[in-house]
Amino acid sequence: MRVEEGHWVVEARDDRGRAYRFTGKSLVNAAGPAVLDLLARASAPPDHRMRLVRGSHIVVRRKFEHAYAYFFQLPDGRIFFAIPYERDFTLIGTTDQDHDGSLAEVRASDAEIAYLCEGASEYFRAPVAPADVVWTYSGVRPLIEDGSGRPEAATRGYRIDLDSDEGAPLLTIYGGKITSYRHVAEAAVDALADHVPAITGRRWTAGAALPGGDFPTDGAATIEAEYRRAHPFLPAATVDRIVKAYGTDARAWLGGAKDWDALGGEIAHGLSAAEVNWMMMREWARTTDDILWRRSKLGLLFGKEDVEKLAVLLDAKHPLPLPE
Ligand SMILES: Cc1cc2nc3c(=O)[nH]c(=O)nc-3n(C[C@H](O)[C@H](O)[C@H](O)COP(=O)(O)OP(=O)(O)OC[C@H]3O[C@@H](n4cnc5c(N)ncnc54)[C@H](O)[C@@H]3O)c2cc1C
Repeated sequence: MRVEEGHWVVEARDDRGRAYRFTGKSLVNAAGPAVLDLLARASAPPDHRMRLVRGSHIVVRRKFEHAYAYFFQLPDGRIFFAIPYERDFTLIGTTDQDHDGSLAEVRASDAEIAYLCEGASEYFRAPVAPADVVWTYSGVRPLIEDGSGRPEAATRGYRIDLDSDEGAPLLTIYGGKITSYRHVAEAAVDALADHVPAITGRRWTAGAALPGGDFPTDGAATIEAEYRRAHPFLPAATVDRIVKAYGTDARAWLGGAKDWDALGGEIAHGLSAAEVNWMMMREWARTTDDILWRRSKLGLLFGKEDVEKLAVLLDAKHPLPLPE
């Protein structure tokens, strides 16, 4: 990526080798843990040093029936949680481990799995063993290096820097949290406003619903009741998942369906061809992993044959349509 005649030019290839060339008046670097990699590709010097801290979770069969989370403290002073997860499971995590490896290979180490199992076993009546773990997942936190000794003590704050020396602004986001995403987004748009004439009004998102989040005042219950009434063939667990994943947006692909055929057929565990199509067209899903792990957690339920059935459906869609 480079600046040419006052514009950013980015050349990229997709997973099928197709080449693209994008141009823009400004570039926003919101690459999370890859923030410094992106700056290096743009030949721009970083304003902050980063500390990459991996957090891993384990998922086990449900350890308790109620809907509340537990908050554990270990002898080393660290805390972690056990949270009801996807109806039938319990999520336990997380760790704080400096991550020195590649960002393409982020996974829970045996030591992290053992640490979480031992920690949880201090509290639950029935111990948690590594053999009970049905799935793990990990992420890397991009934390601004503040000289803290212990990874869990490093700041979770964020910084936004704007470099407009070359006439084409480059805005870089360092750090941040999900909980502060609106503040980060507002600060980013405000910072760009003087450079991008298209940005006129400010802070319009404060009262805006997220996609599918325009619920009535009594929350999701009304939407859930609507879907149950309109599509009585859908199992309760599927309706629950659909409401949580899409909210009111699901109306667009559920339509007036009265059976699975109207949704292009059920692949397995309440996943229909119509839902897969929505994930591909509106949420940029491309692979079985995108669908089963990144857009849903149906991977916890899908067996090998179910995954193959989904793969056949995706193959039949090639060449994959571009998202809307
Ligand atoms: C284990 C763990 C637990 C956490 N717990 C919490 C919590 O409890 N509460 C909380 O508020 N926050 C939590 N966070 C932090 C939160 O996940 C992050 O702050 C948040 O995801 C940051 O969002 P982002 O969009 O800036 O970056 P990211 O979510 O990291 O997104 C960056 C995106 O950039 C893409 N990307 C990278 N390089 C390129 C490239 N070259 N070209 C195109 N795309 C690229 C990546 O694929 C990714 O989709 C946690 C993080 C981790 C890892």
